Amino acid sequence: MNRIIVCVKPVPDPKHWDKVSMDPETKTLKREGIPLILNPLDKHALEAALVLRESHGGEVVLLSMAPPFAQPLIREGLAMGADRAVLLSDRVFAGSDSLATAEILAAGCRWIGDYDVILCGNQSIDGSTAQICSQLAEMLNIPNVMHVIGLEGSSGDNLVITQKIESGSVTLSSGFPIVLSVRKELNKPRYIPFTGILAAESKEITIVSNEDVRVDPERIGLSGSPTKMAGMDVRKFERKRERLEGTVDEIVKKLVERIYQCGVIEC
Ligand SMILES: Cc1cc2nc3c(=O)[nH]c(=O)nc-3n(C[C@H](O)[C@H](O)[C@H](O)COP(=O)(O)OP(=O)(O)OC[C@H]3O[C@@H](n4cnc5c(N)ncnc54)[C@H](O)[C@@H]3O)c2cc1C
Repeated sequence: MNRIIVCVKPVPDPKHWDKVSMDPETKTLKREGIPLILNPLDKHALEAALVLRESHGGEVVLLSMAPPFAQPLIREGLAMGADRAVLLSDRVFAGSDSLATAEILAAGCRWIGDYDVILCGNQSIDGSTAQICSQLAEMLNIPNVMHVIGLEGSSGDNLVITQKIESGSVTLSSGFPIVLSVRKELNKPRYIPFTGILAAESKEITIVSNEDVRVDPERIGLSGSPTKMAGMDVRKFERKRERLEGTVDEIVKKLVERIYQCGVIEC
């Protein structure tokens, strides 16, 4: 195997989702100042890449489109065992929808070159469209298998893939190159060893701009994205409050009555 590219997306840490808000002007998510984590499924994708490298050799390259401040997160992927990383970072990428993001990632894959397998998470935990991987495959003119729950390299030029489907699973055989989108059932991402953290410090993160990958600016960014947010409706959630008075027994009795009255529990 020559090269495995793993697409990793920095996403807001779910512990801080209450701080994510919408920009009323651009109608995009405001994520500034919110701690980021690597999209959890992307760690499963990376684990799969590391296992493939162990049995079939090759290089594991992380690919991410994100602002430069995402570098410490990318280093986490390097500490897990990836060989190097490419960070697609340019102001002209900002505001890209999923199609434009896939366009930029596809250009990144071409720029890296010589890939046999491109691994992604099945979906992110923030945008969660699950569109990127199929769009990426289409743009690179290679196949995509989603919902991957099993992966084996049976020989140097063949992969045996188990795909989850509604009624169970199917086993597929594929050559290279291919885009695979993985589910969490596939594996358990390895713990990062201390030696991995030390080794990651000297691994390379190449920051690549649109001058390098040369995507048509008309097809990327907020203005080049076909998805337009037509409107925004911010809902306010107000809770009714009621203070229950009495002894503990009386309060418990009233509370149980209220729970039944509200239909939370049916008799
Ligand atoms: C009008 C509009 C404006 C937007 N503006 C912004 C913005 O300014 N900033 C912003 O962050 N988002 C913005 N978004 C959201 C952005 O489009 C999505 O975050 C992005 O397209 C990825 O889609 P997703 O999260 O649904 O990916 P999914 O398809 O759910 O992700 C599947 C997999 O694709 C890979 N992947 C996805 N995104 C990346 C990435 N960036 N780098 C590497 N791998 C990736 C990962 O492996 C991931 O597990 C905007 C969206 C719209 C519609």
